[in-house]
Amino acid sequence: MRERIRQLEKIALALESNAEQRADLLNQVAQYAEAFLQSLDQAPAYIATDDKGIGLYDSPISEAPLDLDDTLNLLKQHVNRPGINPASGNFLGYIPGGGLYFAALGDYLAAITNRYAGVFFASPGAVRIERMLVTWLRNLIGYPEGATGDLTSGGSIANLAGIVTAREAHNLKAKDFARAVVYLSEQTHHSVDKALRIAGLKECVKRYIPLDQRYRMQAEALKETILADKRQGLNPWLIIASAGTTDTGAVDPLPVIAEIAGTHQLWLHVDGAYGAAFALCEEGKKILRGIEQSDSVVIDPHKGLFLPYGSGAILVKEGQKLYQAHYYQDVPYMQDALAAQEEISPADLSPELTRHFRGLRLWLPLKLLGVAPFRAALEEKLLLARYFYQAIQEIEGFEVGPDPDLSVVTFRYVPKQGDANAFNQKLVQLIQEDGRVFLSTTTLEGKFTLRLAILSFRSHLAHIEQTIEVLQEKARLLEEM
Ligand SMILES: *Cc1c(COP(=O)(O)O)cnc(C)c1O
Repeated sequence: MRERIRQLEKIALALESNAEQRADLLNQVAQYAEAFLQSLDQAPAYIATDDKGIGLYDSPISEAPLDLDDTLNLLKQHVNRPGINPASGNFLGYIPGGGLYFAALGDYLAAITNRYAGVFFASPGAVRIERMLVTWLRNLIGYPEGATGDLTSGGSIANLAGIVTAREAHNLKAKDFARAVVYLSEQTHHSVDKALRIAGLKECVKRYIPLDQRYRMQAEALKETILADKRQGLNPWLIIASAGTTDTGAVDPLPVIAEIAGTHQLWLHVDGAYGAAFALCEEGKKILRGIEQSDSVVIDPHKGLFLPYGSGAILVKEGQKLYQAHYYQDVPYMQDALAAQEEISPADLSPELTRHFRGLRLWLPLKLLGVAPFRAALEEKLLLARYFYQAIQEIEGFEVGPDPDLSVVTFRYVPKQGDANAFNQKLVQLIQEDGRVFLSTTTLEGKFTLRLAILSFRSHLAHIEQTIEVLQEKARLLEEM
């Protein structure tokens, strides 16, 4: 047996690396990353390919190793080429973010040191970093001291955590679901609907509150609907408001909604996955006024704080409630951990136990850069959206949606003749084929609508001006066809 163990050890040794090998690997990876970053300015924001990365399957996972050069080539050809390039400042579709280089270094260190960030006992330092970041986010939102939260993988999971917390806080049991009412709007992000279903709440009554002309929830209608539901003997318990809808960037009237929630004792969950980070700048803070009166809020650092994908956060005003919905029971194999709690462990605030030390990717950029550049970038995005909103109206043929609350602008081209929906569909197709900039679309009141979402830290005035040029050029081209 000893013989066999030694044999296996020899083969398994390949899993370890030596200093020379590491220097070499790191150097090659850094060169790859550097070439990628240096090419970003010229690189398309979107590449349509026929193969769509299928060539990856020609290099199956196998017993034999492949060298780094060939492996990076696979990445370059089949992963980093086809599709959208969310690292580009010209990526202005969906909700951008960018992906800070400094955050990548945080991920690198998190992976190398492999600290166990789920439980305080295992890595008190890692947990304290995350607690500190949650406190920073809490202050950003304007929640009081008793609030807490958790860093999640994204907004969808954060919405789920908020909804599960609300369910537990209202002590809803399966027998109550059919009478329990949730208030939301047609503009609520689909992850909320998904979260309600996953949280077992799909039998709840859902009321879609009408929107005003700026796609914000009508508070008056919300109040009336709640009153009518109460009269019917139903149990109104949850309002989902949006602090920046994905579609149009609209911010629901939070102060009034919070007052209604308070009067009728509903849980107010604010989905600020896209917009909540704007609270960092003065202008954004004004627009988000009232967010601090909610019971829970979602904020996505991989959007408004420009981190690479994989970072969301849930904050709950009465932190105890997040804990009560997620803590784990005392189990014998965790007894050392529980004895040594000084700070609350993320594992007690989340469905996850073992998880990525995701705090480091936010902590490192904040430490290395300070908050000021984030604040400036967010105000810059607000102003860029306003700039675009003005400028595009000045070009003949373009019409705009409502004044942007945050950094999403909706607009469309109205052709001299013919169907506007078909025209705009073709227009966006031409723009995507061109690839210099990437925009996405939506349908508002039956109108096929273009949307510009500005949120990458790499998107500046020059990118917006180029976008205007491309739009003008392609619209002209289509008009002449
Ligand atoms: C992006 C987004 C979500 C979903 O967040 P993910 O991080 O993609 O899971 C939820 N709500 C809003 C308003 C969003 O913009």
